[in-house]
Amino acid sequence: MIRIERLKKNYGAITALDGIDLHVPAGELFAYLGPNGAGKTTTIRILTGLTRRSAGDAWLNGFHIEKEGLKAKKRFGLVMQSINLDQELTVSENLDIHGRLFGMSTSERRRKIDQMLAYVDLIDRKKSLVKQLSGGMKRRLTIARAMVHSPEILFLDEPTVGLDAAIRRRIWALIKEIQKKGTTIFLTTHYIEEAEFLADRVAFLDKGRIVVIDKPRSLMARTGTWAIDQMDKGNMKTVYFRTRQEADAFVTGQKESYTLRRVNLEDSFLSLTGKKVKC
Ligand code: ATP
Repeated sequence: MIRIERLKKNYGAITALDGIDLHVPAGELFAYLGPNGAGKTTTIRILTGLTRRSAGDAWLNGFHIEKEGLKAKKRFGLVMQSINLDQELTVSENLDIHGRLFGMSTSERRRKIDQMLAYVDLIDRKKSLVKQLSGGMKRRLTIARAMVHSPEILFLDEPTVGLDAAIRRRIWALIKEIQKKGTTIFLTTHYIEEAEFLADRVAFLDKGRIVVIDKPRSLMARTGTWAIDQMDKGNMKTVYFRTRQEADAFVTGQKESYTLRRVNLEDSFLSLTGKKVKC
């Protein structure tokens, strides 16, 4: 599990994290949601030892991220936003290097590489050069690589950014599968549907602070159940309702056109922060 206490990060005059407190229990799929610059990547970079904290503490499965850095590092796998594979090496060579870095024996690496490639449906591309793979395949390969050393925690920083809707859904299915096998997953995203579909709990992050943490359904219920979007003096206005009847009553007799729809997490974020997550 992940425990974070009063975590702060300053980059010169910029406050990227302004006192984060968080506990993600083992086996949870936790989504960290916020607009560009909210501090999502900074949190992951600190937890994974890529950036030093300015203040506060954090532990991964009980190991302090800096004071017990080596032990903490063995606990997690990391999938970054950018695809940082070696394009000139084959699929299995990329995973093999990773296994070596984690001190895995040759036989252990062979077994785990085959298992992970089968798992992400790339076993028949084992000998292909990475540069010959599609974007979606490369993303699946980065997830396989992060899982080669059997980590208990998987950090996914915007795992589906830049992928089309069909491939994104395939990656979602894979993430769910990984969770089912018992892995704790910490996911950052600014795709609302991704958090809605995948997450057990969601944190809304804004300007380096957590605004709220809750289950996606509970967050949406705080806002309402139905939403009506309507143009008002040239601006889109959204009104929220607890029941369909209330929404119907609101539009009865109105001449302006409107859209009636279900409330989503974007609405919740907007009503709590006054901002949109999507950019
Ligand atoms: P995005 O959705 O765009 O990835 P994010 O929520 O991951 O955004 P961060 O990348 O964590 O946000 O950035 C948080 C803040 O810290 C931003 O104001 C950003 O400009 C700043 N920041 C991040 N990295 C650095 C750095 N190396 N040097 C200076 N400022 C930085």
